[in-house]
Amino acid sequence: MNFADMKKKSGSSTKSLQEKIEKSESKNSYKDDRFWRPELDKSSNGYAVIRFLPAFGNEDLPFVKTYSHAFQGTGGWFIENCPTTTGGKCPVCEANNLLWNSGLDSDKDIARQRKRKMQYISNILVVSDPTNPQNEGKNFLYKYGKKIFDKINEAMSPEFEDEEAINPFDFWKGADFKLKVRKVAGYINYDKSEFDSPDALFDGQDSVLEDLWKKTYSLQAFVKEDQFKTYEALKVKFDGTIGADVRSTETNSETVETAQAPTPAREEVSEDTDALDYFEKLANES
Ligand SMILES: [Zn+2]
Repeated sequence: MNFADMKKKSGSSTKSLQEKIEKSESKNSYKDDRFWRPELDKSSNGYAVIRFLPAFGNEDLPFVKTYSHAFQGTGGWFIENCPTTTGGKCPVCEANNLLWNSGLDSDKDIARQRKRKMQYISNILVVSDPTNPQNEGKNFLYKYGKKIFDKINEAMSPEFEDEEAINPFDFWKGADFKLKVRKVAGYINYDKSEFDSPDALFDGQDSVLEDLWKKTYSLQAFVKEDQFKTYEALKVKFDGTIGADVRSTETNSETVETAQAPTPAREEVSEDTDALDYFEKLANES
């Protein structure tokens, strides 16, 4: 798609975007300097202003949804993209279903610890980054969780009649996003984050916007086959991580073996994405 066509679609894509959101699929990446993240102070507070950017090239969506696992077992860390991102089979998710359905609370705890974590990836422009001003005016990829995605959704389909639906990813009719991070009850919290009033980015100057758009990254690249190990390779690594016992302990293994054809339990395991950042950091330090 060329820039002129892309501009023509401005404002018209909010509804189709909305329709596609639930069907979206995707993946993850670690230690990649194309990614931006807010730097938090000692009390885990952070503030930055970012702008979500339109879909890359001919891609339909300005975000991708990804799943990954990050946990530690007796055999070390397991940090891998989850093939369920693109509808594939995942040995960890399968084991989690068995654990979730075993009827034991202790098994549910293990399943929670190993659950797949959901993250979205979008192209962004960093408008303001007080802690790292060198990032300002540059485009990055940004990984975010359900809370921020919900805010994007709310902006696209507001709850009340006096609120106007906006497509936050639109150059001309979108809005800056004020990212406000706090620590609440021990967890990183994004509740106070919000969109600013809609406003054309860079006063709508086409040449500046076109240059920026051309610098954005493919998001579909994160859901390509090469982003995921095979089922067999993941199984080998998973077995090594947990010590070849589904619980990494000696208790109650017969319960697991009899729990055949489990119903998908993944959605019951709540998705807290901030844990992933924590595990990533730990793994990268070692
Ligand atoms: Zn999985």
